Amino acid sequence: MSVLVYTETENGKLKKTALEVASYAKGVADMLGATVTAVTVNAESTNELSKYGVDKVLTVKNDKLGNFNAKAYADVLKQAAQKENSKVVIVSSSANAKFMAPILAINLNAGYASNVVALPESDSPFKVKRTAFTNKAFNITEISSEVKLIGLSKNAYGLKENNGAATEESFSPELNEADFSTEVTNVDKVTGKVTIADAEIVVSGGRGLKGPENWEMIEELADVLGAATACSKPVSDMGWRPHSEHVGQTGKPVAANLYVAVGISGAIQHLAGINASKVKLVINNDAEAPFFKAADYGVVGDAFEVVPQLIEKLKEF
Ligand code: FAD
Repeated sequence: MSVLVYTETENGKLKKTALEVASYAKGVADMLGATVTAVTVNAESTNELSKYGVDKVLTVKNDKLGNFNAKAYADVLKQAAQKENSKVVIVSSSANAKFMAPILAINLNAGYASNVVALPESDSPFKVKRTAFTNKAFNITEISSEVKLIGLSKNAYGLKENNGAATEESFSPELNEADFSTEVTNVDKVTGKVTIADAEIVVSGGRGLKGPENWEMIEELADVLGAATACSKPVSDMGWRPHSEHVGQTGKPVAANLYVAVGISGAIQHLAGINASKVKLVINNDAEAPFFKAADYGVVGDAFEVVPQLIEKLKEF
């Protein structure tokens, strides 16, 4: 038996989440006494997967799959799961994987648990821990179908290196023309900067920054840290920043390794979207700001004094 894992690529390169789901799949496979088979689509190289416990890589090369297509990719994974006799299939929580997973679940007649944050608590019955209520609670979900589909939350498990040697096998699944009734034909990125979804670090600004003219220091701090920029809802509502940067309950979710909040009060709706982040650093001039209760590190001070000093210090490294 093989645990099947979908290892995503971007421009032919394996994404970090691909290595994380591979690490997790290895943990599940060890529990079940199984091996790990990864599926890649149009990857330039799959060598890295060996390091994260993958035993076999099914490499799919097909120009028709150049741009993500949820139905077609779900079909590819279904055929891979059937070929490998996989009873557990693991995907990430990327936007594409979340789009595809329900289709794949139907294709495989599988029970699907999304937002999983830990290895299964038991394999018989098969129980997994998931986040619920915008990360404010956990639940234990039992998957009773024969085939189980797991969506792993970003940064929940981390990377676990293993000394392995994966074999590579070319895999040519049959493509169904009906899956291509709608097709993405071209993707133009609107920014060359780090996106919130992919970012390990996010620097976020709130109304405490007083106006859009003061965002230069937020952008500079983000540049020094290799981070994405984000903002609270009122900031994007007022047009200080683009809506694509709005994070929180009604904006984008953030599960970064480090979330830096500058001049943000920490309202419950803001926290709901960012509290899956590992470490939260809060800079606020009001010691009573609610965000400090959720923070791992806090600086009580004026952002206009603290942020420039932080940038200068970080530049020394
Ligand atoms: P404020 O609440 O005005 O806070 C500004 C903070 O900056 C204060 O804590 C202040 O002490 C600090 N400050 C001021 N000057 C300085 C300085 N010089 N240096 C350092 N700190 C300073 N909000 C979101 O962010 N995301 C959401 O998804 C979201 N969804 C919502 C959904 C609903 C249904 C509702 C009702 C609200 C939602 N909100 C959301 C709004 C939310 O309730 C808050 O109003 C909002 O998060 C506040 O934004 P803020 O912290 O930037 O501004």
